[in-house]
Amino acid sequence: MRIVILGCGYVGLVTGTCLAHIGHEVVCVDTDVARISALAAGEVPIYEKGLKALVAANVAQGRLSFALVLPELDSSIDAIFIAVGTPAGGDGKSADLSALAGAVEDIAQAASASPLIVVKSTVPMGVCDAIETMMGRLRPDLSAEVVSNPEFLKEGRAVLDFLGPDRIVIGTDDGAPNPVLEAIYAPLAEAGVPIHWTGRRSSELIKHASNAFLATKVAFINEVADLCEKGGADIRSVARGMGLDARIGPAFLEAGPGYGGSCFPKDGVALLETAQTYGVRLGILERTVASNLQRRGGLASRVVEAMDGSVDGKRIGVLGLAFKAGTDDCRESPAVDLIGDLIALGARVVACDPKAMPYGHPALNSLALALDPYDCAQGCDCLVLATAWPQFSRLDPFRLAQMMTGRTIVDLRNGLDVTGFATAGFAIHGVGRRPDS
Ligand code: NAD
Repeated sequence: MRIVILGCGYVGLVTGTCLAHIGHEVVCVDTDVARISALAAGEVPIYEKGLKALVAANVAQGRLSFALVLPELDSSIDAIFIAVGTPAGGDGKSADLSALAGAVEDIAQAASASPLIVVKSTVPMGVCDAIETMMGRLRPDLSAEVVSNPEFLKEGRAVLDFLGPDRIVIGTDDGAPNPVLEAIYAPLAEAGVPIHWTGRRSSELIKHASNAFLATKVAFINEVADLCEKGGADIRSVARGMGLDARIGPAFLEAGPGYGGSCFPKDGVALLETAQTYGVRLGILERTVASNLQRRGGLASRVVEAMDGSVDGKRIGVLGLAFKAGTDDCRESPAVDLIGDLIALGARVVACDPKAMPYGHPALNSLALALDPYDCAQGCDCLVLATAWPQFSRLDPFRLAQMMTGRTIVDLRNGLDVTGFATAGFAIHGVGRRPDS
């Protein structure tokens, strides 16, 4: 199959590379000159485990290439995937679909045959219908087919998730299987991946509702963690005991600083907006969104409390910048919220992350970056674990004690060895448990 992908971000680049890996001929297009130049020079502009090697292998085998401008979309192109960003709009509620509209315009201009457009970007219910209408208006001479194929990969495991997903969801005009998409995903289907064929609107809603449900799980366990702190229970044990129930499952039951990233926050509010359009109230999701905002806004207070009431003039080391481990993505990162709030409270903050850099966050201009966790701890009154990179959980508390001035640890991920740190003389403040427990 010959495939063109619009957008070389976390989803587009992984999709294009993995589709090439399973045997298709793929051209990945992006309007970002720096991104395409980097890819053309053999660099991968995002961090995702295994991606660099897979890109190199497929480029070398001639199945994967990159371009700044769409090639002519003639009848030899089997499908055009749209994987551009759909961030929160300026009102903070509805999805900003301007990049998507731009991509559709580009397709309309480059098409010389009726295209099959596959929408991988996460979009509100009804957008595929709107794309079909738009194509009809821009190119009345053609008859574009629009299919919804939302992506469920997780950053940090994106390649593995794409090649071995729990399911592939494909929404077509009439809900019937589409032969081109069947052929594209045949290698995965043959390996046992279930394909869920449905209508376009159902497919779009499956994606938004799935993210909203997972976000609700996170917000719920965080509220239970608050209760644990007051009532003397331990959230790690509570979550484990709950997760052993097959009806609940252990995933997304880790109490922490609140959910972030480029998907859950914006998809939750976009789904609320969609529901409102149809006069439906999603009260549980409203509460999830509010609860998570409150949690992220309260992270600095946790540090202030651990520091006996003030961080003014204190040196605070923050371990982690990315919104979660395994990625360099800092979009909507709780760590970034926390650092901004600590700086506003007068703290001198130094941070480190194995992969992420807080580019594009003007609030963090005065942030000092350390080379590694021990460098970060140097002279600190307090150290905060903000992102659960596995290497942070292996830190030597005695070596940290030598570096630091103070003995306070705030573990927002419950990722550190409490006994080891207590033995080294630290007071450790976790989430959903009593200090030092
Ligand atoms: P991203 O911001 O990393 O990448 C989007 C890319 O699209 C950018 O490089 C941008 O330059 C490019 N672009 C914009 N307009 C273009 C055009 N007209 N032609 C070609 N390229 C264009 O975004 P992302 O994180 O990959 O997310 C893409 C979509 O996938 C979003 O809708 C998102 O909600 C969804 N999604 C993301 C994830 C994730 O974990 N990041 C997971 C599932 C779904």
